[in-house]
Parts: sequence; C-alpha cells; structure tokens
Amino acid sequence: MPTLVMKFGGTSVATLDRIRRAAKRVGREVANGYDVIVIVSAMSGKTNELVGWVEETSPLFDAREYDAVVSSGEQVTAGLMALTLQEMDVPARSWAGWQVPLKTNSAHASARIEEIPTDNINAKFAEGMKVAVVAGFQGISPEGRITTLGRGGSDTTAVAFAASFGADRCDIYTDVDGVYTTDPRITSKARKLDKIAFEEMLELASLGAKVLQTRSVELAMRYKVRLRVLSSFEDNDDNAGTLVCSEEDIMESNVVAGVAFSRDEAKMTLLSVADRPGIAAAIFGPLADASVNVDMIVQNISEDGRTDMTFSLPVNQIARAEKAMDEAKASGEINFAELVTDADVAKISVVGIGMRSHAGVASQMFKALRDEGINIKVITTSEIKISVLIDRKYMELAVQALHDTFGLEKAA
Ligand code: ADP
Ligand code: ASP
Ligand code: MG
Repeated sequence: MPTLVMKFGGTSVATLDRIRRAAKRVGREVANGYDVIVIVSAMSGKTNELVGWVEETSPLFDAREYDAVVSSGEQVTAGLMALTLQEMDVPARSWAGWQVPLKTNSAHASARIEEIPTDNINAKFAEGMKVAVVAGFQGISPEGRITTLGRGGSDTTAVAFAASFGADRCDIYTDVDGVYTTDPRITSKARKLDKIAFEEMLELASLGAKVLQTRSVELAMRYKVRLRVLSSFEDNDDNAGTLVCSEEDIMESNVVAGVAFSRDEAKMTLLSVADRPGIAAAIFGPLADASVNVDMIVQNISEDGRTDMTFSLPVNQIARAEKAMDEAKASGEINFAELVTDADVAKISVVGIGMRSHAGVASQMFKALRDEGINIKVITTSEIKISVLIDRKYMELAVQALHDTFGLEKAA
C-alpha cells in the first residue's frame, strides 16, 4: 500500500469537533487507498500552558522533566484522534514517540531525531490497521527518557516519518492555506505561493516564519520529501496549498520570495573591549557555553587598541548572556567598560534565490526603510537573504514597506 503522512497542527485539533473534521480528511485518504500516518500536535495553547507550569514550578528546570511534562499534550490528541477514527470505522491505533520508537539524541527540549524504525507500525498495517496516529514533537533518548524536538517540532516528526516510510507525500495541515510571501496576519497583501524552493523556505523558517519548523525543511530537502502546506479548514483540491520543492521545479519567481520577521530579539554591546587576537573567542566561547544563541555579530573598527562588539540574541536569553559576560570579566578573560543591552529590537529579513543573480536588493531594502524613517541597527547578509535589526515598534511597518517595495503582492 502507498503511504501518506498527514500532520495536523494545534489549531487543527483544538476541539473535538476539529479533530472530527481532521479525521474525515484522513478517512478520505484511506478510501483513496492509502495507509496513513497521522502526526498530531497538542491542542492549540496546550504546550504554552504546560511550559508555563514548568517554569512556574522550577525556573531553572531540569530539561528531562520539562520534556516529561510538555510532551503530554500530544499524547492526548493522538488518543482522541485514534478514537475518533475508530468511531468512523477506520481501523486506527495511537502511538507515543517511545512506542514507535522514534529515537533521538539526549539533547532534551531540542532533541534531534536519529532513527525511526518502521517495523512496529508496518506490522500493524500488515494486520489491517489503516491509520497510525503518532504523537508529534516527542521521542525517546538512548537513556530511555522522553525527549521533545523543540517548539514546532511536530512538523519535523511528520517529515521524518515521511522519509523513513517512503511516503508519497507529507501534507502539513494548518490554520493558513499555504506559505505566504509574509505572515498573512501582518498584512492582507500577503500572497499565497503555489511553490517555494527548499532553500527559501529554510531561510524563511529559520528567520522567523513559524509556518514550518526549520529542521522539518532541512529533512525534507535532504530526503527529497514531497512537502505540502495546506489548510485544515478549507476543502483543498489536489493542487491546493503550497508545495515546497527544488528550485528547478519552479519556472518563474520574484527576486525576493518573502519577508520574515522575528519579534523577540535583543542586542548587546560590549563597550571598549581590548582588541587583540582571540577576543572574539573569549567573548563568544562563554556565551556558547551558557547556551546563548548568538545570531548577528558586528565588531567596530578599533581605536587605541579598544573596540566595541555588538551581537544579537533571543530576548529571553539576556539574563544568561549578562551573567556569562560578567563572569568572564570577573575572571579576567575579557575586559570591557560597559555592557549595554537593548531588549526592544526585531529582526526583519528578505529572502529569495533570485538575489544570487540580482544586484541592488540591499539598497532597495535600505531605501524603503529610510523612507519610513526606520533606523537600521545591525545588518547581515548571505547569498539569498538580507537581515536587519530595527526597533521592535516599527516591525509591522517595516514588513509592510518591504512587501510593497519588492512588489510581493503580485506574482512574477
Ligand atoms: P500549527 O499549529 O498548525 O503548527 P503554526 O502556528 O505553527 O501552526 O504555524 C502557522 C502560522 O504561521 C500561521 O497562522 C501564520 O500566522 C504563521 N506564519 C508566519 N509566517 C508565515 C508565512 N510566510 N506564511 C504562512 N504562515 C506564516
Ligand atoms: N505542540 C508543540 C508546540 O506547540 C509542537 C508542535 O505543535 O509542533 O511547539
Ligand atoms: Mg507549527
């Protein structure tokens, strides 16, 4: 039997009624002749609530117990989905991550998938089970403990199952009907893309577009999974949604494919650091050891052997970063005059593979921001993206201005 993976995100399983609606879709694919692997998220809001409980109980929590708690939401929806399917006379069984078993490494709260053996589930398909409902976002470590894959991780569960089982398609059902040129919640001019290249989706996801978890796109690209994003609220035809595919499969596209943003960024500057060989290692080593995810880095020209070093980081890691820098200063590893933190910044990025062959995207981006009176604090570029850090209060305005200047509301 051909296999299909269907993933339903939090809003798509938010109520029993929505679970029933999702189950009907699954039933249709079974009627089409597929063995279906359904990956479910927790009901929307549930994971946030669980994370909140953990943080309230233990601010510096043990990540193994965090995983034990936050993985529970998916177990509920997996069981409810299997029951709903059974009520519709579709033979279904639920699986927690450890039962599959979905094997991960031991990096609790952001574990990586190592292997998904197919024999247990395939044996059940051979016995007549038509749908395996698997709890997304979770796995089991070599030590036998429950792990989770990082926020949004059910997307990655879905793609990993599609790769392991050689599924015909991996369909990601969510609350929007595809991947848009930017988050449709920010501007009504956002346009749905019929296709997007893996490389572009990878950048958009890692720069803040949470419609797909970054790692799911990485896996789909590596294992050539046919990945589609579509709405669980509308009836979709065969070509509905957005296909994430190789760039060779896209005939024409805009130079800029989309605009991504990340709201909760912060910027730190070490003023007057001694500029000497090894200074970057002395600063960013302790930050890495403290698990601070540094993103952009700028070092100023130095004067009299001293320089300023600026970097960006997620806003919820400020305390950890400040502690690491103060300790490094106290131990004499680094020497700076002052640490200045700006907790009110956002990162805006434009992404497009067309930028490889088109000059002028950066200057057009900077002009559009200038015309809105938005000051740029830090800039970074790569082959197919340009990112800037700006004051958070201008985030929506900046996204709209960039969407307009690159003409994204119209197809190429
Ligand atoms: P799910 O719970 O189904 O996993 P998510 O909330 O994780 O859904 O992702 C879907 C959301 O991603 C949308 O509601 C939308 O607000 C947001 N989003 C951000 N950027 C984009 C984009 N470029 N295209 C589509 N949706 C986007
Ligand atoms: N429920 C998890 C989260 O909210 C995983 C997911 O939905 O993908 O992050
Ligand atoms: Mg998601």
